[in-house]
Amino acid sequence: MMTENPDNALARIRFVLVEPTLSGNIGAVARAMKTMGLSRMELVAPKQLPDAEALARACGADDLLQHAGIHAELPEAIAECRLVIGTSARRRTLDWDTLEPPEAARRLLAEAAVGEVALLLGRESSGLSNAELARCQFLVHIPTNPDFSSLNLAAAAQVFAYEIRRCRREDLTEPSHDIQRDLATAQELEGLHGHLADTLRDIGFGDPDSSKKLLLRLRHLFNRARPDRVEINILRGILSAAQGRKGGKRPTTSAD
Ligand code: SAH
Repeated sequence: MMTENPDNALARIRFVLVEPTLSGNIGAVARAMKTMGLSRMELVAPKQLPDAEALARACGADDLLQHAGIHAELPEAIAECRLVIGTSARRRTLDWDTLEPPEAARRLLAEAAVGEVALLLGRESSGLSNAELARCQFLVHIPTNPDFSSLNLAAAAQVFAYEIRRCRREDLTEPSHDIQRDLATAQELEGLHGHLADTLRDIGFGDPDSSKKLLLRLRHLFNRARPDRVEINILRGILSAAQGRKGGKRPTTSAD
């Protein structure tokens, strides 16, 4: 039997299921992933843990279920990811770049060559929350009938997994500027956002309610900009200085 080399970009692409309700869907996603050579599934606060129904629907993709990470909160499931793409059953506007599935697949695969990447799939009932989407650099929507746009969770996972496979087979990945940059991980971005929130409070910038909206806008800004690690350090140094901390001395950068 021909097996695939596990040491490839596919192993660094994780599908993250956020609060799935039905264990059967978890199994069906595992099957959808394995048929396309994907192996990494992370579960955030699943309503049902993988059980007999999940195994039945996985149809032999038991290994994915066994190795699935189980997390209480989303940040743990994506901490080391440099790229996080959220899925949406509806076409949302404004704050995110919304990609078509082939372009999302191309980016996931290209960036998986240099680091960990994630695709977030939402709850069967309500999809992903705005707070969850605010952790994504891009959104992807499978173009569907606008009057009946929502696919079953595992059916959507199958479309994305297939696009990734197709992209890999046809080698549609092309080097992009982002790949050459040492981008901050989700955890490092969270550190920046936490520091921004603290600094706004410390310097008395705005009232707490409008700060929430402001912080969301800043999340969108940094998700579009995709700062690298040095840039995050510079920004945090500036924030520390604004807070009047000693750590606010100017960090050295390779440009100095
Ligand atoms: N009622 C929810 C639908 C959730 S469907 C809503 O309106 O958001 C469950 C999950 O399947 C979604 O969160 C998403 O991850 C995926 N999904 C379903 N249809 C999709 C589509 N057309 N494009 C992208 N993802 C889709």
